[in-house]
Amino acid sequence: MVVGPTKPERSVLEQLSLPAPPLTDPDFIAEFGHCLARLRELVGSSSARVVISPGSGTIGMESVVASLLRPGVPVVVAATGIWGERWRKICLRQRVPVKTPLVATGQAPDLTRLEEELADENCQALLVTHVDSSTGVRLDLAALAALAHKHGALLLVDGISALGAETVEFDAWDVDCYLAGASKALGASPGLALYSLSERAVDKLNDRGWQPFSFALDLAPWLPVMAATERGEFAFFQSPASNLVMALSEAMRLALAEGRQARVSRHETLRELLHAGLAKLGIRPLVSAAAQRANGVTVCLLPGGVDEQELLIAAAEQGVVLQAGTLPELAGRTFRIGHMGSVNAVAIGRTLTAIELALDSCRPGR
Ligand SMILES: *Cc1c(COP(=O)(O)O)cnc(C)c1O
Repeated sequence: MVVGPTKPERSVLEQLSLPAPPLTDPDFIAEFGHCLARLRELVGSSSARVVISPGSGTIGMESVVASLLRPGVPVVVAATGIWGERWRKICLRQRVPVKTPLVATGQAPDLTRLEEELADENCQALLVTHVDSSTGVRLDLAALAALAHKHGALLLVDGISALGAETVEFDAWDVDCYLAGASKALGASPGLALYSLSERAVDKLNDRGWQPFSFALDLAPWLPVMAATERGEFAFFQSPASNLVMALSEAMRLALAEGRQARVSRHETLRELLHAGLAKLGIRPLVSAAAQRANGVTVCLLPGGVDEQELLIAAAEQGVVLQAGTLPELAGRTFRIGHMGSVNAVAIGRTLTAIELALDSCRPGR
């Protein structure tokens, strides 16, 4: 029960075991085209420009910053956990000045505070994390997009641990860049970054007055390649990770066969089931506002006197792998449960039983 990589379905694994197809193979190009169309559908868009490139989530974040942000012009990062902090570090490394309004741990940022920061200077973008897997906070992207656009800024979103478990309405919410990952709630394997870009973002890519620091991480050369791929034609910037693309395409086919809404509802129902069970065990999620709780990851506050490592070891002995907390300010005081991807009610039940037994074995005085 980890945040990722999650367990791929068998048909996804089968794709990984096949020889990598030649890049010019018409069948591969056609499947890559399906994969791109599936990404657009999954983010709730009819017109987003989509790119799927090799790399970890972090490489995706660095690509977004390198491609879309002009060095020297400030951005606002609304950090709701360690991944917001990563946005900040990546921007600073690329000489993009960052303003970081203080956000209370386990909460969404205060919109009034954000607006002050955005209005204050000529900010080029607002960077956020749809679901921060270090806190389990989920953000309302529609409100954030409206706020960013009111001040002439782009909304750039890290949706790496959200897509596949959360509602995403790229068009309706008017997001400018939505970055997703393959190995979290989508249930494919790690190694691909998935980008959806608005017309605003594409205009910026096509008409930049600066040169990105990186050649390989620049998204601009991918745009014509992806467009050609969707037309069934071969085009080249760098070799795609072809096995990973085939596996991702299959994972996305399964996600769409389940149904966009049905998949989100499944995650939501299971999250409620998990949280009800945790409450019975006296365990509270870090996020107190129900509307801000992510569907696919829960950061739990450790009950008093329970040691984090002891609990994780005891749960693993029951056959359930949980994860340590990752937030430095709450070191040793939380643990994390991933409930995304192919998760079901049986897995939630087993997890609750394992936590109950683990608590029994490691509570002081027992
Ligand atoms: C996992 C994750 C990342 C980083 O992905 P890597 O592939 O490990 O670089 C970034 N943001 C969020 C929200 C994540 O959950």
